[in-house]
Amino acid sequence: MAPSRREFLGVILGVSATGALGPPVLAQTTLTPTPACGGPATPTQTEGPYFKPSSPERVSLLEPEMRGRRLVVAGVVRGTDCKPVPRALLDFWQADAGGRYDNAGFRLRGHQLTDAEGHYRLETILPGVYPGRTRHIHVKVQAPNGRPLTTQMYFPGEANNARDGLFDPALLVALADNADGAAARFDFVLSR
Ligand code: FE
Repeated sequence: MAPSRREFLGVILGVSATGALGPPVLAQTTLTPTPACGGPATPTQTEGPYFKPSSPERVSLLEPEMRGRRLVVAGVVRGTDCKPVPRALLDFWQADAGGRYDNAGFRLRGHQLTDAEGHYRLETILPGVYPGRTRHIHVKVQAPNGRPLTTQMYFPGEANNARDGLFDPALLVALADNADGAAARFDFVLSR
């Protein structure tokens, strides 16, 4: 039986045939899709002046009394063949809330390995900005026996993105804010 005109309009307007409001239409979010597997590899970026080898292995860069908004960054490392990469090495380094790198020690530096499904998860703070750059986190990603991919992750909604010559929208994380901090998602694609 064909739907009545009222039912038909209800479908369009999100109103049920009884006149009750349907589920609220989801508001447009600021989430930006991260590069999908099957496409090109994650773009590379300059390492910059502050990389230090031999960072500690740790999934949390948080330390007591550390200032800054809490941030969890999580995602998957895949190959261009879409397959997850287990035991991929991710080495992160970033500025503190005041925009400073620790070049003497290893504050806000750490590496970890992806799990069997290629997942990683980093607990940190939102990096501060420093002159000439928009907000970013540096990372090197390397499949076992692969070449390291050096890149940076960026954050949506930053006014400085448009003024930073290194900024690449393909490297924007998907960002959601919640009560305890921010949650970012970014998937890496390694060519192999
Ligand atoms: Fe930097």
